[in-house]
Amino acid sequence: MYTIGQQMETSASLLEGGPLAAKIKQEVKAEIEEMVRTRGVRPGLAAVRVGDDPASAVYVGNKIKACEEVGIRSEHHALPATTSTAELLDLIASLNSRDDVDGILTQLPLPAGIDERAIIEAIDPAKDVDGFHPVNVGNLALGRPAFVPCTPTGIIELLLHSDVEIRGTRACVVGRSQIVGRPMAQLLLQRDATVTICHSRTRDLASVTREADLLIVAIGRTGMIGREHIKPGATVVDVGMNKVTDPVQVRELFGPDAEKRLDVLSKRGFTLVGDVHPAGAAEVAGRLTPVPGGVGLLTVAMLMKNTLQAATRRRS
Ligand code: NDP
Repeated sequence: MYTIGQQMETSASLLEGGPLAAKIKQEVKAEIEEMVRTRGVRPGLAAVRVGDDPASAVYVGNKIKACEEVGIRSEHHALPATTSTAELLDLIASLNSRDDVDGILTQLPLPAGIDERAIIEAIDPAKDVDGFHPVNVGNLALGRPAFVPCTPTGIIELLLHSDVEIRGTRACVVGRSQIVGRPMAQLLLQRDATVTICHSRTRDLASVTREADLLIVAIGRTGMIGREHIKPGATVVDVGMNKVTDPVQVRELFGPDAEKRLDVLSKRGFTLVGDVHPAGAAEVAGRLTPVPGGVGLLTVAMLMKNTLQAATRRRS
């Protein structure tokens, strides 16, 4: 850990995801080598992408690369945007029936013409490594074994690894999506936090979030959570990933630390910023996840872990 914003005389220390993500992938790799050596079985992941959304292509590319790193056999089904729901259901059915496929993921969002819910519900719950199928969602809510979405499980791993106390603390999750907010709240509840969930209709958001020792933000609004939303010393986890292209906004978000980001902006045309205002939060939070370099790296590592788990369960 190191402190950020030295020029701003701040104290928030960074909860970085990189080292833990590398450790998790290393452990998964070792277990897969053992599985291959002792049982002659190699886990397989099928990634399905429809259309040509550039962000989805990058996300799937990162997942395939991680599979190569840990020794998971992967296959990438990139289908045209004109694919129908029926055609996609056929592909899911064939992946469900194949013994060499342990995990299936469909990169969301799917194009508007496809019935996303039907696709998610068609995936065999035993191969649902994203944890989006209603059977897995229900089991999580009941506190039973389930595949749990990778971003919230990665956050729990990061908190545990960093010795952040969860039990008995006041936790606040801002955002109630199926992918992040809701499963996050369930996992915190399972670990005995007192959990509040906020969303776009929450009145006087700052007065609620300021009560939290542990604040998890997943809203998709660049830098919206500022110092006024944060209890001094709180642990703040920023799930947001937003592209910022305006140098004026970069200066406003990063203050005296903006130079490095402006450099990234001039080279790549954008810089990634979370839902938490980086300069404001650094002044008041005790610990803070950076964007990039925080939660995002753990999401892919947890997908590898879920795929290994699917292979272990299916083949035992
Ligand atoms: P969704 O758009 O599905 O959900 C956003 C949630 O935020 C909704 O519940 C919405 O409330 C709430 N919200 C929106 N505006 C406000 C507001 N002004 N005040 C309070 N709550 C608000 O987003 P996701 O959960 O899929 O993603 C959230 C962010 O996390 C995005 O930036 C996304 O890119 C990022 N992300 C990052 C991942 C990673 O690996 N790092 C993985 C997944 C997502 P309501 O329900 O009332 O509409």
